[in-house]
Amino acid sequence: MKYKAIFIDIDDTLLDYIPCCRAAFEAALPEHPEHFQLFFEISGRLFSEAKHGQHTIAEVMELYPKEFIAAIGYPESAVDPFKHAFRAAWGTTHTLVPGAKEMLESLHAKGYRLFAASNSFGHLQRSRLEQAGILPYFEDTYISMDIGYDKPDIRFYQESLRRCGLQPSEVLMIGDSMTTDVLGAQAAGIDALFFDRKKDNLLALTAHL
Ligand SMILES: [Mg+2]
Repeated sequence: MKYKAIFIDIDDTLLDYIPCCRAAFEAALPEHPEHFQLFFEISGRLFSEAKHGQHTIAEVMELYPKEFIAAIGYPESAVDPFKHAFRAAWGTTHTLVPGAKEMLESLHAKGYRLFAASNSFGHLQRSRLEQAGILPYFEDTYISMDIGYDKPDIRFYQESLRRCGLQPSEVLMIGDSMTTDVLGAQAAGIDALFFDRKKDNLLALTAHL
């Protein structure tokens, strides 16, 4: 085996982001499911800006409920209840990307050490992996709010390597974001495999490993 360990992104690599986001949104604002598209656009723009260093993920987690609640004309007092309800529901969302569990089973059986590598809250991401039935495949989870840096910051990858005691050449990163997963890992000297959700099948993509 060329690598000893594999770092794997969570959203839109293992768990399907849009249905998870929609479920959490509908739990947080059940009276207005039609506002989901607006919510998705606002949060999507802010997360995209974070990828390019304009905000930290921690800042985005505060900004998008604020912007969304203002956009639908609700009072500012509605921000915190919406934010907390969304987060609580988010921690229960766990729609799997097709082939994700089978890929983890296969990589685990081949003897790879597996680590989740994601930009978010650690406790919520672990809860989602657990409910999807895939947490046991992971030796550890490296989540930005716990690590102290967001992907693609090179320090996210350096701190993750330090925690598992591996060299960059011993690790492969798999993820659906060219910016945070592929270029971020490569900047830290880690090889990366891009998962293109529009055309790749996870099992086929990783079959050669
Ligand atoms: Mg992703």
